[in-house]
Amino acid sequence: MTGPVAPVSFAPAVRPRIPVGRFGDRLACAEAGVAAAGMGALLVGVGPDLAYLAGYEAMPLERLTMLVIAASGRATLLAPRLEAAPARACPGVVGGHIDLETWEETEDPVDRVAGLVRHGNLARPTHLAIADRVAVSDHLWARHLLRLQAALPGASFLSASVVLRDLRIVKDADEIQLLRLAAQAADRVIWEVAHGRLVGRTEADVAREVCDRLIAEGHERADFAIVGSGPNSASPHHEASERVIKAGEPIVLDIGGAYGGYASDTTRTIWVTGGDATRGPDDEFLRFYAVLRAAQAEATHAVRPGIACERIDLVARELISASGHGAHFFHRTGHGIGLEVHEEPYLVAGNPEPLRPGMAFSVEPGIYLAGRYGARIEDIVICGDDGPIVLNGLDRDLLVVTG
Ligand code: ZN
Ligand code: ZN
Ligand code: ZN
Repeated sequence: MTGPVAPVSFAPAVRPRIPVGRFGDRLACAEAGVAAAGMGALLVGVGPDLAYLAGYEAMPLERLTMLVIAASGRATLLAPRLEAAPARACPGVVGGHIDLETWEETEDPVDRVAGLVRHGNLARPTHLAIADRVAVSDHLWARHLLRLQAALPGASFLSASVVLRDLRIVKDADEIQLLRLAAQAADRVIWEVAHGRLVGRTEADVAREVCDRLIAEGHERADFAIVGSGPNSASPHHEASERVIKAGEPIVLDIGGAYGGYASDTTRTIWVTGGDATRGPDDEFLRFYAVLRAAQAEATHAVRPGIACERIDLVARELISASGHGAHFFHRTGHGIGLEVHEEPYLVAGNPEPLRPGMAFSVEPGIYLAGRYGARIEDIVICGDDGPIVLNGLDRDLLVVTG
């Protein structure tokens, strides 16, 4: 008899890292983007853009940490004095690509940023009469942005994604390797949880196990563990609750975290019988699961350079709609993934953006019958030169377990 096999662990003892020199390349691209867009400066606060450009995963604080990339001049990381040690240790600074400056508790860091922006524009022919465009990262807190706007009167503010989205949306080989290791770790966690005891436990208890296992499988952080049992499986973003899992029902497991900074996000639907052969999946569930399985496979199969994001969504949606379940698939088919678990590109109706080699995203259709049960299958997929590269290796057939 053949059946699904346990995923093998390829996890390296030491998490691979993005090479230090890569941050120099990324900064050079960002600087070129600032110049090409004719912007005065790119201001990057704590968040995924800072991790991308500097390799610095700083704590978001009321004290301002900011990478300033002015139209001319060196990239400067301004950090509070008490964060100097971690800031100095980040690859962007270690590699000599970024100058580190610290500010004292009694100083106004926003004034310092405004000074760096002005200074970084002195060499420009039209010398920023402070009437210029300044791009800020999407994750910058409003409290910081409002003060920057006051300190740079006349400047117009726009999103840093103007420059950074095109860089971040295509993953290089090192990023893809981290996404692959993250996906494989999530595969193993789902396998282990699915083959352990489930009946009689609460969803919240299983969710805690998921988080512990993600860490044990090499993640530095577990971010979410959706454990939707029975009727809760019909709620796509169900919060694991105190509901006790029963024999004879499905469980949607949707789990993720960060591995080497890159996100995992994988869903499998399982069915627990409690060891009772009469408590297997009913015909209706098997029917719509088969449709879902085909829709997820076809949408994945359609991935290739040049195809529109919305087209991938349509492939899954048409199959599900043809089965009469169109109304029961009410979210987009997928989202980009990288340093953030949800980022561009979004596989959704209305997004004509063509896929490019190196784009990474989820393919995750679902069918949800409110009040009864539901199912979802989610893989992380890379757009390869000739078609899809699926990072998850876990079988996609309905996994029927004793639980
Ligand atoms: Zn989601
Ligand atoms: Zn997910
Ligand atoms: Zn997802």
